[in-house]
Amino acid sequence: MAENGKPKLALYWAASCGGCEISVLAIHEKILDVAEAFDIVFWPCVMDFKVSDVEALEDGEIDVCLFNGAIRTDENAHMAHLLRRKSKVMVAYGSCAMEGCMPGLANFYDRERIMQFVYHDSPSTDNPDGVEPQTRTEVPEGELTLPGFWNTVRTLDQIVPVEYFIPGCPPEAKWTEAAINAIISGELPPPGSVIGMDVTVCDECPRERSEKKITRFYRPYEIIPDPDICLLDQGLFCAGIATRAGCGALCPQVNMGCRGCYGPNEGVVDGGARLISAIASVIDAKTPEEIDAVLDTLPDPAGYFYRFTLARSLMERTRLERQNGHKVARPLEEVPRLDPALKE
Ligand code: SF4
Ligand code: SF4
Ligand code: SF4
Repeated sequence: MAENGKPKLALYWAASCGGCEISVLAIHEKILDVAEAFDIVFWPCVMDFKVSDVEALEDGEIDVCLFNGAIRTDENAHMAHLLRRKSKVMVAYGSCAMEGCMPGLANFYDRERIMQFVYHDSPSTDNPDGVEPQTRTEVPEGELTLPGFWNTVRTLDQIVPVEYFIPGCPPEAKWTEAAINAIISGELPPPGSVIGMDVTVCDECPRERSEKKITRFYRPYEIIPDPDICLLDQGLFCAGIATRAGCGALCPQVNMGCRGCYGPNEGVVDGGARLISAIASVIDAKTPEEIDAVLDTLPDPAGYFYRFTLARSLMERTRLERQNGHKVARPLEEVPRLDPALKE
């Protein structure tokens, strides 16, 4: 608690697009209640805080930290460890922190392939000397440093213990508000809980469903869908059948299939595998050749099935390791987890 009796709140972004930061402001005038109820001690996206401000706090002095973004670099991990140590309650805010989301798609490649493409092979690269970023560079003024770029993108709870998860890319304002209200009132769910619902997007979707027998998939530009009929019934990929509800079925309501940003439901270990299983169950094909023919109409299946959950997937890196013929180094082995003495 601050001297003024208010709980202390920190907000931070790691490997993030910034959308989660904006979504916090999507609670509109409720943000004034947040400013009223909390002493905001760290929010570098919005105010000029320094890391040294956090370091100067006692361990556990921050009451709640809303942490968005995945863990991609040494700096992301350092801030996750630091904020974990300083915070009583750590919240993985948004899909990137919870499941890796878009940054996690980089796990289809390793660090070397990413560097090779970005700094050498991409059509827009102009780098005749083949320069790559270094973590330490001597210049006349001294040494410049950059955070190390990890081989594998990680979720927040793969790096530090996390009490609560708020899903979504980004989370809908009503869940941000629900979480803030729960914190203010002290009526928090048990640690480990996801703040949200545990039914699927289909349960919130107003479209009419019937027995699905998909013989081919269409790209969104290929057909004009009936506005009242389930998109999947019409052959448009929709992840709503295996995605946690909470957004109000936003995408299907504007003729776009759900892409799965709220992640899988409770108890699902691998969201992509669950989605593959759900979609497979509605394909109308009997022989392997027929199944292949239907799947051939689905472009980028890895992107469709693992768009948000690759960093948490059981299968992540396995394909790459098989392809390379050696184990891909894991940052969890390189970077120690939170000091056990600080776990509380
Ligand atoms: S969850 Fe989505 S909105 Fe939030 S930081 Fe990640 S990509 Fe951006
Ligand atoms: S459109 Fe998508 S979310 Fe809506 S009922 Fe069909 S599968 Fe479910
Ligand atoms: S419909 Fe799916 S992709 Fe769209 S906001 Fe909801 S959970 Fe996310």
